[in-house]
Amino acid sequence: MEVTFIQSPNYSRGRHNRRILAIVDHITAGSAEGALSWLCNPISKASAHYLVTRKGEIFQMVKDEDTAWHAGIVNKPDWTLYDGSNPNYYTVGIEHEALGGQALTEAQYQASLWLHRHIIEKYNIPADRDHIIGHYRIDSVNRQHDPGPGFSWERLFKDLADPASQYPAIKIKITKPEIHGLLINNQVYAPVRKLAEALEKEVEWHEDMRAVIIPPINTTIPAAPPGSVNIVTGSSIIPGVIYNNTSWVPVRPLAESLGRKVIWDNKKP
Ligand SMILES: [Zn+2]
Repeated sequence: MEVTFIQSPNYSRGRHNRRILAIVDHITAGSAEGALSWLCNPISKASAHYLVTRKGEIFQMVKDEDTAWHAGIVNKPDWTLYDGSNPNYYTVGIEHEALGGQALTEAQYQASLWLHRHIIEKYNIPADRDHIIGHYRIDSVNRQHDPGPGFSWERLFKDLADPASQYPAIKIKITKPEIHGLLINNQVYAPVRKLAEALEKEVEWHEDMRAVIIPPINTTIPAAPPGSVNIVTGSSIIPGVIYNNTSWVPVRPLAESLGRKVIWDNKKP
């Protein structure tokens, strides 16, 4: 995802020596253009780190490491992490372009989900209801409908809990057993160990080279860059991906390297 940075003058430098603990979700209750211009207008004395538009664009107005002014006044809060200090210091604020009660568009939801994942990963934030909150949890009186009933908390927490939901699930059938694969960039990937075992092959993990070897091999093992993996068999070197602490390999090139055919069964999902 692309993030467009437009600096707002409404922020304080740094985080007051606090660590980023939580995400606060908001709605703009108006257009993205209006929100962006208001949150970048010094008169408003308000800002947010991010704004996600209905088209699914992401704007950033304040750097994560600086304090945005989005939490407003604390009024009858319902939030265990509130410790009496200014919530702006330890939260990231995300605005969503929507009118009161309006649901996010699908593109907007996906962009916001991506942004939540990105922030959660970067600051090691637990994906739970204490650490990802609506503005109404800070001000339950005047911000009762921020982000409002159209904001799909259930779906957000479900998706955040399930790392595989960022790729569509797909079934790979090797007569038996069935392996669950993932569609990544239009290619079907499977966990390399499961796939190799289904094809009755042994696998060896070479930590120093970040390589999965399916013997016999007749090529030198290259070192894969950090965060990635090579699957080596015969004279083939197939780049795989590390996902969920597992090495995933594109099914077709691996199967073909092992002399197997891949038949795509369109009838089944
Ligand atoms: Zn708000």
